[in-house]
Parts: sequence; structure tokens; C-alpha cells
Amino acid sequence: MRRLLLAVVVAATVLAPTAANAAVPTPRPPVPLPVGIEPMPPYQPQTYCNPTDKPGVVAFGKLLTATYAGTSIVSISRPCGTDTSEHYDGRALDWGGVYYTNTAQVAEVKAVFGWLFATDAAGNPNAMLRRLGIMYVIWNKQIWGAWSHKWEPYSCSGVTACHQDHVHFSFDWSGALKKTSFWTGVVSTPMPAPHPLFTSFTTRQVVTVPARSRGLTTWFALKAGMKYRLTVTGIYHYGLAGADAADAECSESYNDRVWRTLAPGETSSATGVRDLVVNSTSSGWRASVATGGGCNTATHTYSGTMAIATSAPLQLAINLPDRSVATGALTVVVTRVA
Ligand SMILES: [Zn+2]
Repeated sequence: MRRLLLAVVVAATVLAPTAANAAVPTPRPPVPLPVGIEPMPPYQPQTYCNPTDKPGVVAFGKLLTATYAGTSIVSISRPCGTDTSEHYDGRALDWGGVYYTNTAQVAEVKAVFGWLFATDAAGNPNAMLRRLGIMYVIWNKQIWGAWSHKWEPYSCSGVTACHQDHVHFSFDWSGALKKTSFWTGVVSTPMPAPHPLFTSFTTRQVVTVPARSRGLTTWFALKAGMKYRLTVTGIYHYGLAGADAADAECSESYNDRVWRTLAPGETSSATGVRDLVVNSTSSGWRASVATGGGCNTATHTYSGTMAIATSAPLQLAINLPDRSVATGALTVVVTRVA
């Protein structure tokens, strides 16, 4: 406790607070901090969709709102979209109740930034930001990135999009999962995005594969030796003016409006052109309602079962040569069956 107090005093001296912010408090670490420290957080953008609030983000949000009365956690997780945002995997915090024209609230924001970016007693710049695993911060038309170590213009329009009524914090994976020294007292090493094993018989995973996507990796992994069923629904459109359509197995050319398992020009179903491809395989889709020729023109739903030799996430992609003009998506529901 005595050492901690000393560190706070030293940090405050380094910061040389002005009269305006001297009285504004700063957050307190929950554990004594070690001498060692994390490197600058790597930039780990959102690559898959898993909108559940991560513990390090929740804890930091609670710390800020406990330190600054009247501020709030505006959002952490958000339903996945087509752009890239760490909110889609619960690794971003929008801290609200801080308005850019409110002098007292701006003083709180400045106090947090001063605390995050301060050089510690051992001479480590941006010490608290590194101990928390914060990759970047957005506030009032500016972005501070761990890649540049400085504030840069953030193009936007509107108070909320310009982050003039909240501060955005994005965390790397170790920070988001509360494994960094700010929370544990032990220096962590940056970690890749985790892929937890999906082993439940009672829950299911729903994955959307946009036709325009080059393919995606699921946030969860299938476990070796277990058996899973994949059920795929949906139609997407492609071709000139989106006149052609396809589902997980079959496609329909606007020329004759007939659904076929083979795409135009395709001679073997093994190539799987316009099919949903799972871990490089497009074969094995069974029509849930057989309407002829291996297709399901009634509900466009197909299923297949799979087991894998080595635990791994699923790789899902629509084998579409001309994806730039495609619209729509297929929806894959994964359940464990054995
Ligand atoms: Zn945000």
C-alpha cells in the first residue's frame, strides 16, 4: 500500500497537473502493479463476431463510472455489422456522460487521458494504457492509436460519430480478457484471438456468411471427436443486376430460371462453384425438402453433419467467382449432435 501511494505521488509529479485538473481524481489499480510492464498493445482488429461483453472491458467501464459520478457505460457489445468494430466482439467501451462542451466533464476526460498516457516512475511511457491493453482511443474528432502513439484527426460528422459525447476505448485480447498487469499484478504477453470450444448440446451457434465476404472464421472451435450438424438457409443474388440467385447448394440462372446443383459452366459438383464451402469442402449438402435434382426450391434449407480430426474453428465461405456484385447472405446454424 505504501509503495502504491508512492507510485501515485510520483506519477502525479511527472504529470505536473494544472490547477484546473489537480482536484479531478484518477482511477486506482485494484492490485499492486509490478515493476515490469506490457509492450504497446498490438492492433488486433475485430475479425469475427462474438458480441458478449468481455471482463476487462466491463471492469474498466465500472472503474471509470465509479471514479466519475454521472458518467456511464453507453455500450460494450453490439450486434455484428459489415464494418469492422471491436464492439462486435465485446472488446470496446463507449464511456458516456462526457460532453465536449461541458468543462467539468472535459476535465474528467483529460484526467483519464493524463493518467493513461503518463510516463511511470520507471520511465515507461503510456504506462496505464499498456497495463490495460488499450489499442486506441477516440475522443472529440481525434484518435490516439498504439500504432502511432499520438492524437490524429478522426473524420466524422455528428456529435456521436465524432465522439463528442463519449470516449471510445478498444482493447487488445489480453486486455479485454482481463489478463493484463493492471488487473492481475503480473505482466502478460499479447495473445491472439481465442477460439473457445463449442461442446454444448443445448445451445446452438448462428453464423451469417455474407455473399460478398471472402470467407470467415468462426469465433468458436469445433472439438475433435465430436459430431456437429450444420443447417444452412438463405438465398443470395449475383451476376448482372443481381438477376441470378443461389443457395448453399444450387443456383438459378436468369436465362431459364431452373435451379441446378451445377453452376453454369461447371462440370463437377466437387468444385462447388456458388456453394457454401466448409473447411474447403462443398460436398455433402442434403436438401431438407427435396424438390428434385439435389435442390430445395421450397425452403432453400440444406444440412450436413461433420466431425473433425483436430479441434479448430470453422472456415465458411461462399465459392463465388464474381462476389463484387453479390448481395445477400447465407445463415448457418451449428448444433452438436454427438
Ligand atoms: Zn465505440
